[in-house]
Amino acid sequence: MENRNDCVLIKAQGNQKNIKKFVSSIAKFAPETSHIESIKTAPIDWENFSDFQITKSKNISEAITEISPDIAVCSECLMDMKVQSNRINYPFINCTNCGPRFSIVKDLPYDREKTTMKKFIMCDDCRKEYIDVSNRRFHAQPVACINCGPEYELVFNNKSIKDFDTILRIFSELINNGKIIAVKGLGGFHIACDANNERAVSRLRELKNREGKPFAVMFSNLKSLKEYAVVNKTEEMRLLSWRRPILILKEKKKLAESVSIGFRTIGAMLPYMPFHYLIFENLKIPAIVLTSGNISDEPIIVDNDKAKNTLSKISDALLIYNRDIYNRTDDSVEMVVNKKARMIRRSRGSAPSPIRMSRDVDGIVATGAELVNCFCVGKGDQAILSQHIGDLKNLETFDFFSETIDQFIKLFRVKPKLIVCDKHPDYLSTKYANDLKFKTISVQHHHAHIASCMAEHNLDEKVIGVSFDGTGYGDDHKVWGGEFLICDLNEYERYTHFEYIPIPGGDKAIEEPWRMGISYLYKIYGADLYESSLPFLRNIKNEDLDIIIRAIEKGINCPLTSSAGRLFDAVAAIIDLCTFSKFHAEAPMRLESVVDKNCMEQYNFQMASTIIVEQTIREIVDDIKKNIPISIISAKFHNTIISIIFTVVNEIYKNFNIKKVVLSGGTFQNKYILGNVEKLLMEKKFRVFSHNIIPSNDGGIALGQLAIAAKRRELKCV
Ligand code: ZN
Ligand code: ZN
Ligand code: FE
Repeated sequence: MENRNDCVLIKAQGNQKNIKKFVSSIAKFAPETSHIESIKTAPIDWENFSDFQITKSKNISEAITEISPDIAVCSECLMDMKVQSNRINYPFINCTNCGPRFSIVKDLPYDREKTTMKKFIMCDDCRKEYIDVSNRRFHAQPVACINCGPEYELVFNNKSIKDFDTILRIFSELINNGKIIAVKGLGGFHIACDANNERAVSRLRELKNREGKPFAVMFSNLKSLKEYAVVNKTEEMRLLSWRRPILILKEKKKLAESVSIGFRTIGAMLPYMPFHYLIFENLKIPAIVLTSGNISDEPIIVDNDKAKNTLSKISDALLIYNRDIYNRTDDSVEMVVNKKARMIRRSRGSAPSPIRMSRDVDGIVATGAELVNCFCVGKGDQAILSQHIGDLKNLETFDFFSETIDQFIKLFRVKPKLIVCDKHPDYLSTKYANDLKFKTISVQHHHAHIASCMAEHNLDEKVIGVSFDGTGYGDDHKVWGGEFLICDLNEYERYTHFEYIPIPGGDKAIEEPWRMGISYLYKIYGADLYESSLPFLRNIKNEDLDIIIRAIEKGINCPLTSSAGRLFDAVAAIIDLCTFSKFHAEAPMRLESVVDKNCMEQYNFQMASTIIVEQTIREIVDDIKKNIPISIISAKFHNTIISIIFTVVNEIYKNFNIKKVVLSGGTFQNKYILGNVEKLLMEKKFRVFSHNIIPSNDGGIALGQLAIAAKRRELKCV
């Protein structure tokens, strides 16, 4: 057998019946984590083989085999960890079915010398397993044991502790006493504390500075997780899968208040490193906060020295180990809607698995969006989407972005020929693309959203695209975000959108949803809005209000938008739920979190050449005055959006006879909207396509850009 970079080559000899059986058993007994693209067979000359051998890996072509994502420790290794004398409680145990992959790979083919395991010289015991064809660790590149592999080190009170039993004991004592520890994980650092200790969690929130998002929580096992969260069958399967994502679940029992800061959800995951299991054996608590180890918007820290310098300031102890993380990966985040998994943040456990495309995408590099960046490179007919990168406006994140693009080009042996970026001239990803010395094309943001979902489902035809999100640069230089497109992979027509409305203060309004609230109210009531005595106005200084209204009147720094996200912002502000936002998309998330699911009512809206929600806002204001609970108002508003989507989609169908509807954009991260739009359209016999393995937010944009560029290249439009 030969491990090549484009395939695995197996030479086998025997009678025809046995060979046939052997070939069919490859797929039949393939490990859970493997993915066989195809099996091709051909006769060879007789060579008189006497045993099974893996010959040295070869770099025979520029084609590649995939790099596996990192895999959660398997159950057999967990058992070995209790009985194998050289691996008792050894936290780096792994085998061919589990362990680090992408995070340690520096180059292909995937051999130990090309990983960050290179510096650890295998001991005789490990080597025996490594070369034994009948062993589960046969050719497991990161194989290691107590005598030869990586080690943990706890830095506490200026002391360095290396004895692992002592580390486990002190670590547990600290967590049990409400302390905060920075821990090196698989793809980067985490910060951990007891998830039921409010003092610890709120202190962590303060130390992490500006951190307003709910924290992720790791539970000791499924049983304890089920005490705190509602888990259906699909969710259970996702939680237990080898990918081990963070799953957004409905809260059942409260953890410390500061974990979810008022959201009735828990971002939950199960242990995936041997260390996680060992620590829970010692801790005797059901759950720990395990949030990413970074300062505000910076990328998750991977480097031991950097962690010592920065994370030790916000933690009481630092747990590191001496194997390097080469490819940084955050924990992936998913949710389940209508019994299907939906990617929110695609990283550990999923990246860099390729997406098979229906055409040649070779040499195309798509630089993605700006705020939630992922990029994508094309190799043959495979689109390789990067792990979650983050907000490029942060300098460290931008460096991470450009370094990782270089790494991907080298790792996957991509020869860039065509660069594709967003139409937004000021996106840092656009500027980066334009600085490269290759042919560059730009793609409209909302077209890219729809194309990313089309690529995921292998669609290549005219579809109805519903592209709803916070912002994206439009062809008319206005801020789009509530768009109905009739499009294919090459071109699109903007059928309709929400009526334009000023965004007072431009980007500032993203952090201050009250500005959009005022914009909508001013449009309807003019100066009378002062008399409306809506409760949320109390949160705003009179002078700020005056400035904003003058700005709207004079059109100063008030770009026009058709954004669905900004409409959600406005409603969240007007009902006094979120006037200032502490993190990206907080207002729409809070609005969704209060929906009364039993309410079937909706508000009125108007369809003209655009979609007009004046009446919707008026009725919301009336409901506030009637003291209708916000759970009902929010439900009626959500139902209105669902109804708008259905109305427009149905109209397009009647005019153009298109039955395939593609849903994409950050708004479809709203479970209530996505779940109900899908159900309603399917009931009405539409064919609905939404995201599963690719994020519907801007993290999926690069795949759409790549799909459009490939199609245009094929049509010779570029
Ligand atoms: Zn294993
Ligand atoms: Zn060993
Ligand atoms: Fe977007």
